[in-house]
Amino acid sequence: MTLISKPITSRLAALGIHNTNDLLHHYPDRYEDYSTLVNIAEAPLDTAITIQAVIKKISSRKSWQRRQFSLVDATVTDNSGDIKVVWFNQNYITEQLKVGTAVMLSGKIKQTKYGKQLVNPVFEKAKQDTVHTGRLVPHYPTTYRLTQKHLRYLINQALAKPILDWLPDTIIESNDLISSHEALRAIHFPETIKAVSRAKHRLAFDELLTMQLVSQSIKDTVVQEQAQPITIDQTILKDFTDHLPFILTNGQTQAITEIVQDLQKDTPMNRLLEGDVGAGKTVVAALAMYACAKAGYQAILMAPTEVLAQQHFDKLIQLFKPFNIPIGLITAHHKVYPTARLVVGTHALLTTKNTFPKLTLAIIDEQHRFGVSQRQSLQQKTDLKLTPHLLSMTATPIPRTLALTAYGDLSLSIIDELPKNRKPITTQLITNSTRAEMYKTIAEHIKKKQQIYIVAPRIAEDETSDKTSVEQEAKRVQAELPNAKLAVIHGQLKAKDKHAIMEQFRAGNIDILVSTTVIEVGVDVPNATVMVIENAEIFGLAQLHQLRGRVGRSDKASLCFVCTELTYPAVLKRLQFFVTHSSGFALAEYDLERRGPGAVYGQAQSGFLSHFKIAKLSDHKLVTQTQQVATQLYPDLDKYPNIQHKVQQVLDIIHLE
Ligand code: ADP
Ligand code: MG
Repeated sequence: MTLISKPITSRLAALGIHNTNDLLHHYPDRYEDYSTLVNIAEAPLDTAITIQAVIKKISSRKSWQRRQFSLVDATVTDNSGDIKVVWFNQNYITEQLKVGTAVMLSGKIKQTKYGKQLVNPVFEKAKQDTVHTGRLVPHYPTTYRLTQKHLRYLINQALAKPILDWLPDTIIESNDLISSHEALRAIHFPETIKAVSRAKHRLAFDELLTMQLVSQSIKDTVVQEQAQPITIDQTILKDFTDHLPFILTNGQTQAITEIVQDLQKDTPMNRLLEGDVGAGKTVVAALAMYACAKAGYQAILMAPTEVLAQQHFDKLIQLFKPFNIPIGLITAHHKVYPTARLVVGTHALLTTKNTFPKLTLAIIDEQHRFGVSQRQSLQQKTDLKLTPHLLSMTATPIPRTLALTAYGDLSLSIIDELPKNRKPITTQLITNSTRAEMYKTIAEHIKKKQQIYIVAPRIAEDETSDKTSVEQEAKRVQAELPNAKLAVIHGQLKAKDKHAIMEQFRAGNIDILVSTTVIEVGVDVPNATVMVIENAEIFGLAQLHQLRGRVGRSDKASLCFVCTELTYPAVLKRLQFFVTHSSGFALAEYDLERRGPGAVYGQAQSGFLSHFKIAKLSDHKLVTQTQQVATQLYPDLDKYPNIQHKVQQVLDIIHLE
């Protein structure tokens, strides 16, 4: 960038632009559509247009109004007519535009008290390849005293030089991509909006591929431990699935295939199973446990709460009934079948005196990964002196790309579809004016013998306890629906009592369960069809999504009411987004953009997100595609110094973070 003066260099640096490559990857945040060329006589008012004209008159003067400013006045003409043009505080224009200069002018024509005027248009001398006018014109994020024109000029110059592609032709062709140079040209100076999306596709591909290669490289350096390989016969799998009351989704089958492959290796599986609420992760876990038991080994499943552990226990008993496999339960309050092959429990599984001599598989629900100390205490509980295979399961919508990088040592399975029998959940925003209607709907559902959750979060930390907020809420609901059978569940209840209430609810003896967020994760009662969330504004969208996922678990139509008493537009807008979006990934991304990754995923892994400028972290198709390409490229990386260099650059940054 030899032509750039010193002050400009420092202004560019303020934008993170230190070299030509940075400059080329400083993407527009939007485009002005100045592609409509019109005659002066036919030019519409208040519409972005471009005219090509000749300067007829031009002069500058100071305005004598109170706040002094300078004014350039011009008249321009084309074959069809004349129009006045004014520029404020841009005196230098008279140096550049003289009478007789052919010029392109882009902007909007306004009706003023002095007649029609083109006010503050962008201009450039008329030529073939315009940069600032007569086209889709890029608009960049910029900084103090660095104009749009300046940036466009510099970027256009950089684009004029040859740009080498970092990817080999074979990859470009087989993935149906445009060249890097074409993509960069099109993202900055597109011919059409469609060209922008092609360019974005290529650039997103590059970002994702880079991160995929980075994560392969991280994985590669993770030291491999020894595990007990488990022999799994296809007939065992078939026998299990044949006894299920439903057919597995493709996502479930895929996840099972991946897990089964891992279990047969002598290196420990270290896998994260991700799937939206209700995607059916439990049965995938159950099958893996089943395979272990059949091979003569032990497996454990660890849940974050007693309610969930109990639920998994009940579910596994049901699933394994045909096979006569004993299931154990270990929580702080329960201990059943301590010598069982398959054991479910809470964190108590790790602290209990019981050992699991033949433990080969540990599954952890609703957590992203096993912590180091969890892994260690597991190892101490086996006689096998080997690392158990580890499977974590989560409903948190962590984009695969993020998961693969933030958890570079984990393999990932994503169940990206819900079972087919699911009816979409109708979500509705409830304000004070629609509250009465909501209770009416609830009454109708109760009449149909369906069940309701009402979540009443604690509002102020120290003023009211969990208990009082749910009890107050229960009173209000009971007053509205005097015939409904109500129960409350909150954190201060004994585990035994919580369990009893959940059992009553599951059995259909309770119409409405008023609770704190105890039921947030995992609870599965298919007959519950209405979820009411009070004070919904206090939740993150991903959390709301978790709560909504408690309903819609059968073929009955389900409803979710998000209630707020606040009327701030920002609050309503955010909740409205929740109302209109059903994908956990879309919701996570919404919060991601507005509240930052820390708010959505926790601080630790958010730094990675800054490496994605264009790639949508939810684009599964492109993520999978780049993952395949990365796998194909990775072993031969030393043949591609360009790629190696780029991967190393990112690794350096990650290590700095
Ligand atoms: P999550 O992924 O949120 O843990 P669960 O494992 O609790 O979901 O499954 C939710 C419900 O869906 C359960 O009642 C389960 O029996 C049921 N289910 C799981 N897989 C299927 C399927 N393929 N078809 C129909 N129902 C399914
Ligand atoms: Mg679950």
